Amino acid sequence: MAIRKIATLGHPVLREVARMLTREELASPKVQSFIDDLVETMHDANGAGLAANQVYEPIRICAIEVRNNPRYPYKPNFPLTILVNPEVTPTTDDTFLNYEGCLSVPNLRGEVRRFTGVRVKAWDRQGNEVELDVKGLTAGTFQHEVDHLDGKVFLDRVEDTRSLATWADFERHHMAAFVERAKALVAKFGS
Ligand code: ZN
Repeated sequence: MAIRKIATLGHPVLREVARMLTREELASPKVQSFIDDLVETMHDANGAGLAANQVYEPIRICAIEVRNNPRYPYKPNFPLTILVNPEVTPTTDDTFLNYEGCLSVPNLRGEVRRFTGVRVKAWDRQGNEVELDVKGLTAGTFQHEVDHLDGKVFLDRVEDTRSLATWADFERHHMAAFVERAKALVAKFGS
């Protein structure tokens, strides 16, 4: 396993629409070992998720895991999940404003509107079909990661650029109010 370099804003790989994988490719030692690297890189960088094109591989795989995350202390834990060829469909019109950050967008956070519920259809790393209904802050994380595979970063969805803040200024000026909203979401959806 190896820790991969993370692409940052401006690198064209982040703007590529990642390509679908076949089950044969997924089963290959190369792709399986890539998935190990993706997870190790996410852990090393304290990410809540990481998409393959963030580590320069434009293929439709992303990892999500929240375990007492120091970057996002208000996010409820979510077990390690590998999504291959994921498709995300909203299950509601209800939205919330998420204050997002991204390993590929260093030292910037901003408010992004996300659906409070999505259905995720994907394969797991063995190629088995999985279907997940995710809600609340966790639904926001899934939408953020699958956006990456479509060549989008959260900045594209920031409605009001005045919400953009460095991490230090987020903590100083916006975090308290956001944590209250986040707690209300967790209370409502349990996630
Ligand atoms: Zn990101």
